[in-house]
Amino acid sequence: MLSPDFFAAIYLLATILFIFGLKGLSSPKTALTGNRAAMFGMLIAVVATLFNPEVKSYSWIFYGLVGGALIGSITAMKIQMTAMPQLVAALHSFVGLSATLVAIGTYFTHEQEHALNSILCVELGLGAAIGAVTFTGSVVAFGKLQELITSNPLVFKGQHFLNLLIGVGIIGLTIHFVMAPAFIWLALLSGLSLLIGFLLVLPIGGADMPVIVSMLNSYSGWAASATGFTLHNNLLIATGALVGSSGAILSYIMCKAMNRSFISVILGGFGGEAAAAAPKSAQGKTVKSAAPEDVAFVLENSSKVIIVPGYGMAVAQAQHAVKELVQALQAKGIEVKFAIHPVAGRMPGHMNVLLAEAEIPYDIVFEMDEINGEFSTTDVALVLGANDVVNPAAKSDKSSPLYGMPILDVYKAKQIFVSKRSMKAGYAGVDNELFYYDNCSLVFGDAKATIEAIHHALSKD
Ligand code: NDP
Repeated sequence: MLSPDFFAAIYLLATILFIFGLKGLSSPKTALTGNRAAMFGMLIAVVATLFNPEVKSYSWIFYGLVGGALIGSITAMKIQMTAMPQLVAALHSFVGLSATLVAIGTYFTHEQEHALNSILCVELGLGAAIGAVTFTGSVVAFGKLQELITSNPLVFKGQHFLNLLIGVGIIGLTIHFVMAPAFIWLALLSGLSLLIGFLLVLPIGGADMPVIVSMLNSYSGWAASATGFTLHNNLLIATGALVGSSGAILSYIMCKAMNRSFISVILGGFGGEAAAAAPKSAQGKTVKSAAPEDVAFVLENSSKVIIVPGYGMAVAQAQHAVKELVQALQAKGIEVKFAIHPVAGRMPGHMNVLLAEAEIPYDIVFEMDEINGEFSTTDVALVLGANDVVNPAAKSDKSSPLYGMPILDVYKAKQIFVSKRSMKAGYAGVDNELFYYDNCSLVFGDAKATIEAIHHALSKD
């Protein structure tokens, strides 16, 4: 029989591989190796666990493995890149639900054996509560990202007070459960935690969703860690802590990038009150539109161009067409750079992933802070399906839900072309005053078709 030390050594190795995985994911150059290291870590962890003497029967494990592998493979093959954030939210909800179910299951097995002690009850209470908040919070985040629920904040009077009351209720019930471990207390604290998960995420506006997605990522890690304590599984404790802390660090970085305070995001209520209202500065003005041929003409007479990709480039899957356009411009001696906003698209690093997929060289791709100073010396800013991340109201309009979020300063370029399909607002649901600026023209149509048409017009000369 394999000794406990053997399992401890394998789990330690898996944890080290997960840490290498996370480190690798911090740069596009090492992301692939990082992913492979984490996958290998997971493989050895799963195989080792199957040999654990505590495993009494393989039948349920078999059903879970086959069912999970089937659903996972089909989803991975079918999922659109633009739908990744809602998939991630859905997966977080599973982690949360399983943490709550494990806590409830463990309660019953230990109750039968009369083995419920205070420490176990603390673990069960925490696991059930964190799991339940993660579950319903992630379900709401999924609904918002999938546009099944409005991305506008759903707020009502007395909301913060109600949340506070429920929070105090959960703490009180957990203490009561530890002192008198009857199932009713565990059920009640789980029920209240399910409710607060809904209430915490419903008021989050579109503009703040990135932070919430990474925060739920963090919660799902802590939920897994709590489950690890309950199941006495060191690997689950360590892995949960890694996910929990990396998610918390990412939430902090996102908050900083969006100039939001973490507390104000969690308390919610931003984004959307001004939805669809025309910005004050735009009232009475009209937008100018340009044809792809006009864009090609201006591009040809430029010496420096900055491309700003956003969610629309992902929807249109325009990255390969963009690469070809970039090559055509470079062949004409025009300098081309990309400017990436930290929350462009629908998940952290969304634009970097798409540009890497099209093999656009990293050395012409710049983060917001690196490139913002260059727009004033740029002939053309070509905005491809980006909207919120270039909205100047974030700097000037205190009533805008975007106010305070740093933006890419495209408005400083000599000429701006924005590729989009209609006058619809971006994710935060607010109109964009940039579109009414004198130096801005909209190029209506799908981003991929627009880029191909510009490229075609360039090649004709
Ligand atoms: P936005 O969502 O603000 O705007 C997207 C733009 O793309 C719209 O103007 C839309 O206009 C246009 N568009 C959509 N499809 C196409 C298409 N096929 N061809 C051309 N244009 C298209 O995108 P940004 O990237 O500027 O901003 C991201 C927003 O998402 C921010 O508010 C951010 O907070 C939020 N968010 C970000 C997350 C992240 O982690 N990065 C996660 C969750 C939310 P039209 O419909 O007229 O074509």
